[in-house]
Amino acid sequence: MSDNNIKYVRILLPLALPKMYLYAVPDEFASKIKFGIRVEVPLRRKFYSGLVVEILDDSHTPDYATKNIISVIDERPIIDEIHLDFWKWIARYYSCTLGEVMGIAIPSGLKLSSETKVSIIDDTDIDEFELSDDEYLIYEALGVQKELNLKDIQDILDKKTVYPVINSLLKHNILDIREELISNYKPKKVKYLRLKDDFDSEENLPNALELTQRSKHQTNALLAYTQLSKTQTEVSKSALMELAGISSSVVKAIVDKGIFEEYEKNISRLVPRVGEKKAMPPLSEFQEESIANIDEILKDKNHVLLHGITGSGKTRIYKEYIKRAIDKGGQVLFLVPEIGLTTQLVDRLAKIFGDDVYVFHSKLSQNDRVEIWEEVLKGKKIILAARSGIFLPFRNLKLIIVDEEHDSSYKQQNPAPRYNARDAAVYIGATREVKVILGSATPSLESYYNASLGKYGYVKLNKRFGNVSLPDIKIVDMRSKNILVPNHSKYSLPLITEIQNSLNSGEQVLLFQNRRGYSPTINCNKCGWFNQCDNCDVSMTYHKYTNEIRCHYCGTRDNVPTVCPRCGSSGLVFLGYGTEKIEDELKKFFPEVSVKRLDMDTGSTRNNIEKIIDEFDRGKIDILVGTQMITKGLDFENIGLVGIIDVDRLMQFPDFRAVERAFQLVLQVGGRAGRRKKQGKVVIQTYQPKHPMIKDVLDNDYHTFVERELEERQQFRYPPFIRIIEITIKHKKPNVCHEGSQVLALELKAGLRKRVIGPSVPGVAKIRGFYQYRIMIKIEKSGIDINKVKDFIVKCKNNTLQKKGLKTLRINIDVDSY
Ligand code: ADP
Ligand code: ZN
Ligand code: ZN
Repeated sequence: MSDNNIKYVRILLPLALPKMYLYAVPDEFASKIKFGIRVEVPLRRKFYSGLVVEILDDSHTPDYATKNIISVIDERPIIDEIHLDFWKWIARYYSCTLGEVMGIAIPSGLKLSSETKVSIIDDTDIDEFELSDDEYLIYEALGVQKELNLKDIQDILDKKTVYPVINSLLKHNILDIREELISNYKPKKVKYLRLKDDFDSEENLPNALELTQRSKHQTNALLAYTQLSKTQTEVSKSALMELAGISSSVVKAIVDKGIFEEYEKNISRLVPRVGEKKAMPPLSEFQEESIANIDEILKDKNHVLLHGITGSGKTRIYKEYIKRAIDKGGQVLFLVPEIGLTTQLVDRLAKIFGDDVYVFHSKLSQNDRVEIWEEVLKGKKIILAARSGIFLPFRNLKLIIVDEEHDSSYKQQNPAPRYNARDAAVYIGATREVKVILGSATPSLESYYNASLGKYGYVKLNKRFGNVSLPDIKIVDMRSKNILVPNHSKYSLPLITEIQNSLNSGEQVLLFQNRRGYSPTINCNKCGWFNQCDNCDVSMTYHKYTNEIRCHYCGTRDNVPTVCPRCGSSGLVFLGYGTEKIEDELKKFFPEVSVKRLDMDTGSTRNNIEKIIDEFDRGKIDILVGTQMITKGLDFENIGLVGIIDVDRLMQFPDFRAVERAFQLVLQVGGRAGRRKKQGKVVIQTYQPKHPMIKDVLDNDYHTFVERELEERQQFRYPPFIRIIEITIKHKKPNVCHEGSQVLALELKAGLRKRVIGPSVPGVAKIRGFYQYRIMIKIEKSGIDINKVKDFIVKCKNNTLQKKGLKTLRINIDVDSY
């Protein structure tokens, strides 16, 4: 299409709109229009940056009045067709709109939307006495400051609702209102200094020094400048100030004298790490064997499941494939479940691949994320990322590694799209020339099943690196008489003995408890009251260190009750064990040793986590107590013992996957023991020592476990033999929620019949003030058009939302909701 034939563009906006609109392209912009660039468009009195996803000539005449695009934002595309195709697949598969996919796919820094600004109309005649107090305040403020945004106005009036005041000022013709696109992305700027032309040479420098001779500081600044410019092509203001020991006012004085000139430059925030690169260590015999097997599989398949027991050195194998991919000029996406816990991995990759590696995750600042997006477009080679990395705009992707592929953090719960990054990676491998390695010591049932069907290749690495044996596992039967340490303890005597033994031989200990805080419940032993959260249907957890009770669902905090709020009795009992209490008790048993805790409270930031992991690594911590956070991929040399305080709790969740999850967790945590030198120990405390899962753990028998689970899943119709789509209906009013769920279920059943189960009240009936109902839909894997089913579900949802009184329901569709 020639430029002058470009008449319309279809624009994708990051909003949950049912369709994409066409906009007209004014001639002046026609030559700049390309697929995948952002343009500014109006929608419902606001402006947005939208993506050009289709370009049309004048043979298309839309049947509605199109609006014009307002400006062109990018010169170069920020996505290509393949990325849009991937977004479309996500929207289709996970039953959401393309706009919602865009909403999470691109960093917010690339999503602009408009901000309302008001200013005073010049030359208006106003009688100040006609204005109300609020109106006058704004009028007055605008005399000082030319423009105000809504936030400013809210602050000035100290209230949230400001539209009435603005409206009345608009009516009086005092205010002017305009919308302006704002970007959150701010490139990082660095200030530099250079000598102005007159002084910029060695023979002219004395002239400059003469001008500054009366100020010692200024003279120092000039000397520092000369020194710095010997080794650096550009002299940054901050470096100069530091070397000369001067403040910015001194620099300003020199600038004012016309000697220095200041200028700014955008720089990358993701400064490459320094340090020397190292060669990879040679492969072990077993690793070589695995690689030969993987090579064989990848000849005609794009997917391989690498089932390597803990400590077998899967990372070394990943590195091999990363190296091969980048040597051929390809890009690599390395997915990990939780990036906060990957400091060890980042270090290890950086040692080998240097600044070819970037790390991408949701805790990065918006600016950093924009920068990585751009780097990936330009061809950055290796990206280590949490699940959202799957949306990065790789143009030459050759390999995706999904480490710990069984991990549930690959699934996004909220907001839509509720995608699973592992499955999305599998899709990419199936539709493009991208190899996908799924790795785990405890593969998910899905992946194992897919491998057994031959969909994926399967490689087992059954030996630990260095031939260290798997840990020796000991089960403690908590029902036995006198097994507990006296006085309300969660510790059995055998566990205490083993901890002592490990400490005696100079080894470290990990203790796992899947619950944070001190006690999960406070109970009145007189009237039965318990400390339920006002917003949620759960009890609030007592946190001893911050001395408060806190709801883990909505974050509400409150003071710790000293007497029962209902009956006034002082007989309050603190029930249950969180990591804080486990840590506390431990300190009583072993007052001499250093005990630390790693959970969401102590490891809320990447820095905190890094610090604890580093201290543990250097042997500064003897015993580390933690939640799942200690299970994931950490590799320490000196762990002699891993203790699992309460394995039963893990199996109790009302979820068909609970036992699978428990099994994986236990093997993963246990796998942290004895990784390098000698065999480690694992102690598991349980009230159900005869549970078949416990037996499989004891025998380290993944296959028996999986085969039995699969049999049960087949019998009771659960994944991977069927698909599950789960629908959650939420509302603040319980009756509206109930009615909505009935209406929706009825409509669903009319089409899907017995596949629809529910509605039922989930385990936690209320979260953040919203009551919930759940409908589960089980769909067979063959003989039915799954896309039609999904369309039907979306239709039922929309019909329900159109019914009188049900418009404010929230209905979430979650495909493969596990
Ligand atoms: P996992 O399979 O549990 O992810 P890791 O990749 O963490 O195992 O490897 C376990 C340990 O063995 C690590 O400390 C790693 O550095 C070491 N290791 C693995 N392969 C090699 C190798 N080929 N040469 C030297 N050390 C290795
Ligand atoms: Zn009471
Ligand atoms: Zn709550």
